[in-house]
Amino acid sequence: MNLIDLRSDTVTKPSPAMLEAMFKAPVGDDVYSEDPTVLELQAYGASLFGMEAGLFCPSGTMTNQIAIKLHTQPLTEVICERTSHVYLYEVGGIAFNSAASVHLIEGVRGKITAEQVAAAINPDNIHYPVTRLVSLENTANKGGGSFYTLPEIAAISEVCKQHGLALHLDGARVFNALTASGDAPETYSRYFDTISVCLSKGLGAPVGSLLLGPKPLIEQAKRVRKALGGGWRQAGYLAAAGLYALQHNIDRLQEDHDRAAQLGAALQAAPYVTEVMPVETNIIIFTLAPEVNNDRYLEFLKENGILASSFGPKQIRMVTHLDLTQEMVARLIQVVTSFKA
Ligand SMILES: *Cc1c(COP(=O)(O)O)cnc(C)c1O
Repeated sequence: MNLIDLRSDTVTKPSPAMLEAMFKAPVGDDVYSEDPTVLELQAYGASLFGMEAGLFCPSGTMTNQIAIKLHTQPLTEVICERTSHVYLYEVGGIAFNSAASVHLIEGVRGKITAEQVAAAINPDNIHYPVTRLVSLENTANKGGGSFYTLPEIAAISEVCKQHGLALHLDGARVFNALTASGDAPETYSRYFDTISVCLSKGLGAPVGSLLLGPKPLIEQAKRVRKALGGGWRQAGYLAAAGLYALQHNIDRLQEDHDRAAQLGAALQAAPYVTEVMPVETNIIIFTLAPEVNNDRYLEFLKENGILASSFGPKQIRMVTHLDLTQEMVARLIQVVTSFKA
């Protein structure tokens, strides 16, 4: 029995075609900016979003943390949602790397509004850290893969411009957001100062994220990456996988969303599930009935060859991705439907 791993969309393995692209990649020393495949990936990623430049990094945590470092100083602060990855899942890196403060907003399914941002900006008063940066997450992981519409983003960007704040996008799953909203990636360059994009989530590359932004800022980002120990050498083998992912694996994301919706509907109908967050992209978060505990449910799934994640009290997360087949989805639905509380 093939294991069906829904813990994350990071569990995918490179396809034979992606591996072939990696094998064939021309490479050089990227610390000298001499790796042609890295340079190609950076330019291609930047051009997709209408940004000037890009920097290829090992992880989305690194691209987010570099961006925050560039936009802030000690005694300033970052506005973000309470459950955002930059705050909750990056080991307190904002304090560690940037010595900046965080101003948390309670959003709705991971999303915040322009009004909330405006209300969170500190007045010019010696007691307060200076508000410098707003960070949005799209899609929002803890929000069950919810996504921002362009008018919502434009309104937040307008508030940022009025108050001289930078706007960063944690776009670990930005292509899932764009697939769901139907927006073109290049529209984002009007609103965001920097964008972090993961190649190793729904796009199926083994490693890597891109930080996109204006040229002078990305040059500075390269220094920060070096200071973090992220200067790498013949990274072109990995960049080739990222390029392949951007060129072949975006169009198919709708398939992941359709499968997530099917699975969400099956869970909605299951008597042991009290709530399923609206399934907007490739993430399904649901709540178990009081008499079912997470460990017993996950153990049941595991006995049936399925892996999922515990995501909070009574909460389970499943994420669809490109290594699932339609047969697996059918088996999944059959197994989750057969659980008895
Ligand atoms: C995965 C993820 C990241 C970055 O994760 P890495 O594992 O460091 O690549 C950042 N933001 C969100 C919302 C994520 O889901």
